[in-house]
Amino acid sequence: MSEIRVRIAPSPSGYLHIGTARAALFNWLFARRNGGKFLLRIEDTDTDRSSPEMVKVIFDSLKWLGLDWDEPPVFQSQRYDIYRKYAAKLIENGKAYYCWCSPETLKRKQEQALAEKRPPRYDRTCFNLPEEIKKQNLEKGLPAAIRLFVAEGSTTFDDLVVGRITRENKDIDDFVVARSDGRAVYNLAVVVDDHEMRISHVIRGNDHISNTFKQILLYRALGIEPPHFAHLPLILGEDRSKMSKRHGAAAVTDYSREGILKEALVNFIALLGWSPGDGKEIMSLDEMIKSFSLERINPTNAVFDMNKLYWMNGEYIRKKPDHELVDLLRPFLVEAGLATQLFISSRWEYMMKFVGLLKERCRLLTDFVTLGRYFFTDDFDYDPAGAAKHFAGPTIADNLEALARALEEVASFESAQIEGKLREVADKRGVKAKELIHPTRLALSGMTMGPSLFEMMELLGKERCVARIRRAVHFIRTSAAEPSK
Ligand code: GLU
Repeated sequence: MSEIRVRIAPSPSGYLHIGTARAALFNWLFARRNGGKFLLRIEDTDTDRSSPEMVKVIFDSLKWLGLDWDEPPVFQSQRYDIYRKYAAKLIENGKAYYCWCSPETLKRKQEQALAEKRPPRYDRTCFNLPEEIKKQNLEKGLPAAIRLFVAEGSTTFDDLVVGRITRENKDIDDFVVARSDGRAVYNLAVVVDDHEMRISHVIRGNDHISNTFKQILLYRALGIEPPHFAHLPLILGEDRSKMSKRHGAAAVTDYSREGILKEALVNFIALLGWSPGDGKEIMSLDEMIKSFSLERINPTNAVFDMNKLYWMNGEYIRKKPDHELVDLLRPFLVEAGLATQLFISSRWEYMMKFVGLLKERCRLLTDFVTLGRYFFTDDFDYDPAGAAKHFAGPTIADNLEALARALEEVASFESAQIEGKLREVADKRGVKAKELIHPTRLALSGMTMGPSLFEMMELLGKERCVARIRRAVHFIRTSAAEPSK
C-alpha cells in the first residue's frame, strides 16, 4: 500500500471540539500504527471567524493531548489561487459551468420549489443558455459562480467504517464550487487540499457523509483517484442529541480546566466508537497504537458518559506519582487562592502528603481543592447537617475541650500517638471513640468525611488541630447559648 497520510481539518472556532479531538486521536493512532503521517489543515476561509488566537487554541489543545503532527500545518486561507486553478480546470474539461443567476433569483426559485413541494434544486438555467449569451456574459466579465454538472446516475463509495453507501445523483444539486467573487467553496477546497496533501485516508465525523458524495463527484470530474473514507460515529450527549456546549464541556480546554487529566481524556475519547476488542478499558497511547484498527470502529453513535469519564479520571489520578499530581494541582490551588507557587515549592513534603492523603477520594483535580481546602486555610464553615448531628448534646463541647488539652501534651504528634490520645480521652470521659472522632473531624475540616482522621491531624500539625478544636468548642458553646431563630 502507498504511504498512509491522514489529517484533521478543523475550522478555527475558538476551541477544539471534543468530536474533532476524537477525530484527531483516531487519525493519529492510525498514522502511528501504520508508520504514516498525521497532518493538520486549518480550514480558515471564513475570515470573520478565524484569528491567530483561535488557531493557537487548536494547536495547544492537540499538544496538550500529546497528538503531534508531522508536517507544517496547511492554511486554506493561503490557497485561494490554487483552488481557482482547479475550478478553471473543471470549466475547461466541461465538468462545470458558469452561473450568472443572482442570489435573489436563486432564492425566489428555491422558495417557489418548496411551496410546490419540489426539491429546491438548481434548474440549470445558465447551463441551458444559448452559447452566444454565455459568450457575451463572459466577455462582459459579469460575475459568475461555477457549478459542477452532476450527471444522472448514482454515486457509491465503500466506507471503511460504515460499509457501502450509495446516493442517487438526482438528490445532489449542481452545487457551486466557486463563488462569483472567485473564492472556492468548501467541498472543492477540501478535495484540492486532500489531493495536494496526498491524503490516503479521510477519517472524520459521519456528519460529513453527504459532503463525501459531492467530493467524490469532484474527484471524478478532476480525474483524480479519491482517498479512502472512514466516517466516525457521532458523539451524543446523555440525552442522545449531538454533543455540544449544552452538555457541559464540549471543548478540550474545558476538560483540562475542570481537572481532567489528559491521559484520562485521551483514553476516554478513544473508546467513543472504538474498542481494542479485549475488554480492556484503561490504556496508554502506546497501548492504543498497538491495537488500533479502523475495522474495530463501531458505526453506531457513541454516547458521552460523563460519569465514566470522571471514574476513569479517578483511576488515572490514583496511578499518577504524587509529585506529578502536586505540579498538576498548582494552577488550581493558586487560582482558588489557597496556596501560592512559593508555598507549593517550599512546602513540598507537605504537598506530597496532602496529595497522598486525598488522591483515593478525588475524581477530578478540582476535587483536591474542594475536598482539601482545610489543609490550606482556617477559613471554612461547618457542614450544617454535620454540625446538627456531631456538635449537639450537653457534653460535646467539654469532651472536645478535654481533647484539645490532651493533644497539647502529645510530644511527637504522629498518627499513632494522636489516636492513642484520643482513645484515652474518650475512655476517661466515658464515651465511645467515634463520639469524639466525628466531631473532631468536623472541627478540623468542616466536613463529615475525608481521609484517615489521625493522618490528617498529623499533617495539619498540633497547633492547628488544637486551635481548630477550640474554635469548635467556642462555636458550640455560643450557638447553644443563642437559641436558633
Ligand atoms: N472543517 C471540517 C470540520 O471541522 C473538516 C471536515 C473534514 O475533515 O473533511 O468538521
